[in-house]
Amino acid sequence: MENSSLLYNLVIYSLAAILMALFVLIEIRYKFNPAVTGLIFFIAVTLLLSLVDSALRKRSRSEALKSFKDFTFSYFEFYLIFIFAAVSSYLPHNFFTDLSAMFVLLFVIVNLFPLMLDASSGGKDPPQYLRRIFEDMKAKMDIKGNVRLRIFESSLMKTALLGGLIRPTVFINEDLLSMLSEDELRSVIAHELAHYKGGDLIRYMGYTLLIYAVLTPLFKFIVSSAGLSPQSGSVTVLLLFIILFLGTLSAFLILIRRKEVRADLIAATYTNPEDLINALIKLYKASEGAPSFLPTHPSLEKRIEFIKRANRDVGG
Ligand SMILES: [Zn+2]
Repeated sequence: MENSSLLYNLVIYSLAAILMALFVLIEIRYKFNPAVTGLIFFIAVTLLLSLVDSALRKRSRSEALKSFKDFTFSYFEFYLIFIFAAVSSYLPHNFFTDLSAMFVLLFVIVNLFPLMLDASSGGKDPPQYLRRIFEDMKAKMDIKGNVRLRIFESSLMKTALLGGLIRPTVFINEDLLSMLSEDELRSVIAHELAHYKGGDLIRYMGYTLLIYAVLTPLFKFIVSSAGLSPQSGSVTVLLLFIILFLGTLSAFLILIRRKEVRADLIAATYTNPEDLINALIKLYKASEGAPSFLPTHPSLEKRIEFIKRANRDVGG
């Protein structure tokens, strides 16, 4: 199981990386409108990845269709970014208009996310017992906001997540209802509500804007000090950009992972830490083999260690 999931991830990652590199190369060489090529490119990637996914996992055609839907959904935000970037490149712009445009885009994406998930993965209201747990937890954590709970179907995202700022929503994959006990579900809900209470979505938006605000001038500065032209599209400029981008992306992921640990610790204070640990073990096992493009969550071992350590410190 370990080996096959490693091979699976390796194939999916390499394929995605090769296609991504191909796309960047085509963009630089031929300077097509990225809104058009971006859209074609991502549809091709989605189709190819879902075909490879179903071939590797030896799944039926209807399941392949489901995974296509999942991949389409997870790429939808990229379509938006490309179209937005392409259209806005024709408008007069400078660093600050770009920054504000990015803010608008992020805001749209963050709020479109729950609507998309609801529409694309059969969103429905939770059963009565879960709604009660959710309301209980909200009261316990002193949350007065209008955050709601929805159930969704997905064969790839076997998890719970928080989306939306205008209409914040905690989503739980339907499969979790049979996988987890009521107490484990309570812990998972507490974790998502901790994200909500901590304003983590706003933080992620802030981090993204910060990266843009740091990366753009830094890139321009290094390129011009090296006597290169950013427009030349030379391999050196491209490599430099990739190195800088990966560096800032790593910093971004470290910040995000810290928020995950924090949400775990808050959830563990409002629920039984053992339930949270058991839920995490089951969730990690269920998403074993599913492709995750960015390691936004710490490893299972680390999360369990943090929860246990914090619990020891408090409990003595
Ligand atoms: Zn989380």
